Amino acid sequence: MPEGPSIIILKEAVQQFKGRKILSASGNTHAIELAKLVNQKIIDFKSWGKHFLICLPKFTLRIHFMLWGSYSVNEPLKKNIRLHLHFNNGDLYLYSCSIKVIDEDLNLVYDWSGDVLNDAWDENKARKKLKAQPDQLVCDALLDQHIFAGVGNIIKNEVLFRIQVHPESIIKLLPPRKLTALIREARNYSFDFLEWKKAFVLRKHWLVHTKQICPRCVIPLIKKHLGKTDRRTFYCENCQELFAERTTLNAERSKQKTKYEYLKAKKTVKKKARKPTS
Ligand SMILES: [Zn+2]
Repeated sequence: MPEGPSIIILKEAVQQFKGRKILSASGNTHAIELAKLVNQKIIDFKSWGKHFLICLPKFTLRIHFMLWGSYSVNEPLKKNIRLHLHFNNGDLYLYSCSIKVIDEDLNLVYDWSGDVLNDAWDENKARKKLKAQPDQLVCDALLDQHIFAGVGNIIKNEVLFRIQVHPESIIKLLPPRKLTALIREARNYSFDFLEWKKAFVLRKHWLVHTKQICPRCVIPLIKKHLGKTDRRTFYCENCQELFAERTTLNAERSKQKTKYEYLKAKKTVKKKARKPTS
């Protein structure tokens, strides 16, 4: 699934069509009558998180690539074309995506300050939104598009490794410096992602996503589907700290520890007790 930075790359790839008229439109989309697109001029291309927005004079086409969507410019790459827009200087092809028509003013539909890659991104607003959902797990919070529009599963895994926070940590139990790091790195990593993806070196920079060994501790990483979002999560149990209330497992562990300490103490007492006689 394309994450926010990939949509920025798409936006840059189609700049040649800005200001051009759609000469013909085809494809298997049922979202709009294709004839309505012909002769419409592209006013702008915008993005909000994972949404790619084709702005026309009277309405906007919202493209969401879901899990398997893709696009190509000038050359068709696949057979099942959802939407093909033909211009006098080239072609745009969209595949396996969801298309929706937005009639409203985009500024009323989208909160641009919630998009991690937008100039309007607002850290304080993100903090407020996080605090309003105190019981959320960090792995779910990062994927919440109302808080971090544009963040996807790769960014989630890499950000949590970067800030050394366990994915099952609970928002309200994060120390303030970790909460700040979470918000800041969600944006920073997204820009790194964008830069690496443009240079075709993104995978090379993955530290935990799809990896098996922790580069910090050189021990096996854990791979689990975690949180309400149930997405693949890669993390290190050793260097990513868990900020959570004691689970039954932790309570059990601490019970064992107490028992062990009790026995150890008893032994010491015995030893001490024996000492004078020896
Ligand atoms: Zn580690």
